[in-house]
Amino acid sequence: MLVPGGGPPRAMESPPLVIRITIPDGGAVDWTVHPAPQLLFRDVLDVIGQVLPDATTTAFEYEDEDGDRITVRSDEEMKAMLSYYYTTVMEQQVNGQLIEPLQIYPRACKPPGKRNIHGLKVNTRAGSANNSSSAVSDSLPSNSLKKSSAELKKILANGQMNEQDIQYRDVLGHGNGGTVYKAYHVPSGKILAVKLIPLDITLELQKQIMSELEILYKCDSSYIIGFYGAFFVENRISLCTEFMDGGSLDVYRKIPEHVLGRIAVAVVKGLTYLWSLKILHRDVKPSNMLVNTRGQVKLCDFGVSTQLVNSIAKTYVGTNAYMAPERISGEQYGIHSDVWSLGISFMELALGRFPYPQIQKNQGSLMQPLQLLQCIVDEESPVLPVGEFSEPFVHFITQCMRKQPKERPAPEDLMGHPFIMQYNDGNAEVVSMWVCRMLEERRSHQGPP
Ligand code: ATP
Ligand code: MG
Repeated sequence: MLVPGGGPPRAMESPPLVIRITIPDGGAVDWTVHPAPQLLFRDVLDVIGQVLPDATTTAFEYEDEDGDRITVRSDEEMKAMLSYYYTTVMEQQVNGQLIEPLQIYPRACKPPGKRNIHGLKVNTRAGSANNSSSAVSDSLPSNSLKKSSAELKKILANGQMNEQDIQYRDVLGHGNGGTVYKAYHVPSGKILAVKLIPLDITLELQKQIMSELEILYKCDSSYIIGFYGAFFVENRISLCTEFMDGGSLDVYRKIPEHVLGRIAVAVVKGLTYLWSLKILHRDVKPSNMLVNTRGQVKLCDFGVSTQLVNSIAKTYVGTNAYMAPERISGEQYGIHSDVWSLGISFMELALGRFPYPQIQKNQGSLMQPLQLLQCIVDEESPVLPVGEFSEPFVHFITQCMRKQPKERPAPEDLMGHPFIMQYNDGNAEVVSMWVCRMLEERRSHQGPP
């Protein structure tokens, strides 16, 4: 029976809430939450993420009185679960029974390794109502999680990364310059994304690249991918960054406008931040916009190191189709050129296809022979179909894709545009729920892990 609405009854607020996270290959981790009433869905996913760092968990389940599994994937459903749980606790108290923890089952997780990477103390509790053989017990309040993540960042930063500490796992994708791996950083227990780029360059140039990358340690924005360090091994550079469990936007089909609006706000904020540091992105495109199940959107692969960009360019085949017309014509590059790429990227994400029908993806990449891109220079810019999208969105794209660079919006005009203002409401849950749903759909098409 579910008790609708409201928080737990007052009498139940004093004992701490113990959530037992069931690990798919056996065992469980007990998480003591104190105080419990403000607990959010996101907090629970964060803790599951620490317990099962290899898996991407987008939802979890609990059992009702009939043993049926009920899925939780939002704050509303969390509230319903807590109400149900507190009702059973009350019944257990009235009957003088032992209070059982709230047992939850992370959904669609890959089995974690056997490692206890967080160093939690194993505490097999004799006489516990639960008979799981390896219950791990510790207190993990959500504010201590935030602190530990900041500490990890400190440990990881400032050149402390090295090849020996990294275990490469899955390939996340291949780009023109290199390959991105999901990797495990052994000392911190953190999952990273590591981009390996083969580069045959002199030691001098390697040093120059390392010093140009220094600025990345100073980039501190929630709209920019976290940078943990870089190192050269033989003839390749490894760039270690924050892992985003939703991946890049190029693999999502047509994104609904209310989700895209929130994503656009984050991208505009990320670009504005970079421009404020006098950094031009130079490679704005959907594959360089990353999302995660927390609903965060972050930019990656911006050109902070001229030397790195030049060295990679030598191995490039073709020209990037998101480039502004002036750049295709070999003219000067500026903030306005990033704004064009922003416009064309969001037009593609809204339509679910590249806006110029004559330009087709070539093996998943939009690197094209230069001649094919001449239509971007010669033709009128495409426009979003008015009936299908809101007037502010159509206007936003049209402005970003003006052929004349100076006619495109300046940074402050982007932030003040009605489309951006409308969706600048801090509602990360819209993106979070959409990412979770898309990942679940993708998984159900792929079958079990
Ligand atoms: P290009 O080389 O033309 O820029 P690209 O951006 O697709 O193309 P990469 O930057 O090498 O190529 O990235 C390859 C793929 O790896 C991306 O498309 C993205 O899906 C994935 N990826 C990159 N960085 C991360 C990250 N930090 N977290 C999760 N996935 C990532
Ligand atoms: Mg990229």
